[in-house]
Amino acid sequence: MKICQSCGMPMNDEAMFGKNADGSKNEEYCLYCYPQGQFNKPDETFEEMVETCVPFMMKEGHTEAEARKYLTDNLKNLKRWQ
Ligand SMILES: [Zn+2]
Repeated sequence: MKICQSCGMPMNDEAMFGKNADGSKNEEYCLYCYPQGQFNKPDETFEEMVETCVPFMMKEGHTEAEARKYLTDNLKNLKRWQ
């Protein structure tokens, strides 16, 4: 399974993939991070991405501290944050 190399979201459906500037599918990033040939928020920092994702994990039942640690450990390995 592919995951977005920016936010870590699983992309298990064609509709989840981002798009290149020419409209073709981008296989590395999801449609939220990479909607049309560039990042939705090109200046977003790693810390901002973690904070953006924390509430989504809390909705799934994780505590804020758990969510922040998990995201920091996992997202830092993704291509966008190298
Ligand atoms: Zn993404």
